[in-house]
Amino acid sequence: RESWASDSSDSVISSGSDSDSNLYKVILLGEHGVGKTSLARIFGGVEDCADADEAGNTYDRSIIVDGEEASLVVFDIWEQDDSQWLQNHCMKMGDAYIIVYSVTDKVSFEKASELRIQLRRARQTEDIPIILVGNKSDLVRSREVSVDEGRACAVVFDCKFIETSAALHHNVKDLFEGIVRQIRLRKDSKED
Ligand code: GDP
Repeated sequence: RESWASDSSDSVISSGSDSDSNLYKVILLGEHGVGKTSLARIFGGVEDCADADEAGNTYDRSIIVDGEEASLVVFDIWEQDDSQWLQNHCMKMGDAYIIVYSVTDKVSFEKASELRIQLRRARQTEDIPIILVGNKSDLVRSREVSVDEGRACAVVFDCKFIETSAALHHNVKDLFEGIVRQIRLRKDSKED
């Protein structure tokens, strides 16, 4: 089962100097209203508490993926204010990115491509893990972006793809486990 994050030391065998090596910063990007906050709150396990501020938030939690613990800090701050500084900062600080669009909103899908291009520009030389997420898959009747379109876009942009429904909690766990796997894959290949 998933475990809650704690600030106590974990059992990671680290070299001492790099104690944060298993703590990954994951940034949510995407147009307003696509479901970033909903996804983040499910991850954080706080979706039912009404008093969370809408102004952006971070959620940290440890999850076990493939038998190994990983600590994620998920940043839902992209829309916190519209300062260029914050958005530039977001593009630089992440270890991994989740680019969200709504399958019911073609414009948000196009915006996701723009964000991918922006991110590539900001992190040119790096191979950072990115998952493209088509959220609101439960809204079958108002779908504007097909699964195939989403998948094709991910191929073009060389990233992973998943459709989720925050409303039904469908694939949300898979999404965050997927991001951990993507981070690990790159880390492992770098350590060779
Ligand atoms: P954000 O602006 O990207 O953070 O989007 P929010 O998480 O605030 O979601 C915007 C609206 O879409 C809210 O009313 C959510 O309840 C709704 N929403 C988010 N995810 C889903 C989903 O998977 N299915 C449906 N039907 N509604 C969703």
